[in-house]
Amino acid sequence: MKCSKCSNRAVIDMRYMQKQLCSYCFSRYYWQRVKRNIVRNNMLSRHDKVGVGVSGGKDSLVTLYVLKDMHYDVNAICVDEGISGYRDKTIPYVERFCEQREIPLTIVRNKDQYGITIDDARKRDPAKPACSYCGVFRREQLNRTARELGMTKLATGHNLDDEVQVILMNFFRGEVQRMARTGPVAGLVENELFVPRIKPLRDSPEKENVVYALVNGIEYDDIECPYSTDAFRRDIRNFMNQMEEKRPGTKFGILNAYDRMLPILQSGLENISAPLQCEKCGELTSSLVCKKCEMLQVLQEAA
Ligand code: SF4
Ligand code: ZN
Repeated sequence: MKCSKCSNRAVIDMRYMQKQLCSYCFSRYYWQRVKRNIVRNNMLSRHDKVGVGVSGGKDSLVTLYVLKDMHYDVNAICVDEGISGYRDKTIPYVERFCEQREIPLTIVRNKDQYGITIDDARKRDPAKPACSYCGVFRREQLNRTARELGMTKLATGHNLDDEVQVILMNFFRGEVQRMARTGPVAGLVENELFVPRIKPLRDSPEKENVVYALVNGIEYDDIECPYSTDAFRRDIRNFMNQMEEKRPGTKFGILNAYDRMLPILQSGLENISAPLQCEKCGELTSSLVCKKCEMLQVLQEAA
């Protein structure tokens, strides 16, 4: 298989655009697509300080690598949720990556911040999926840490597959408000307590992140979290992979259709009430007490 651009040996077959590319041409193409996504969606300016949420997996490390390569002012932020046999294995990859490239790294631990790990939460409330706690805690940790570090944007490693899965999950569940919050710059609130979240890799297919990491020498850990049991998401992922296999370009088609609908979805939510500050912790919330404080209360009572 030869590269469609330069006839070197191709390393990837990009069926959705009927091109095979060598490692050099692929890296260039990939980099330019991320840049285009950033520019087209006004994600970043040269004055921004970018907190990058990193886990040690390929998507977040590729995000950090590409933003650093584009000379943005980056600071890695890693949340240690407290999942033994998992996060303790991936964090060394983050530390090594940041050390080798001289990127400042801040690690925040659920245990230190909330006095509880996700392993503890799982034991205290086995009926609830660990991901419910984990997602809420991680979002709060990332936003607060980015704000405290003076970051003006918070980048996450969401890829095309993640985006399409979330779009379809919300669509199938009829969650229109959530659909309006899944865009390239997530969240609708403009508030000094909230650091806008951006997704530079949202039109980068997951498989291409693997190849990009490989050809650019990015070492990562692809170990799966022991609590990852979201059957609905897994069904959607399998379904989308089958569709993509049969009809290459399906995932991009869904993302493009969604992006065109986004202004309409968001305009329908203009009357959404202004965010409040949690009366316990002072973070933004839509009710008197934020979700995180509510969850911590449940876990404390179950102790
Ligand atoms: Fe947290 Fe769930 Fe992800 Fe595991 S799979 S890291 S529990 S959100
Ligand atoms: Zn709170």
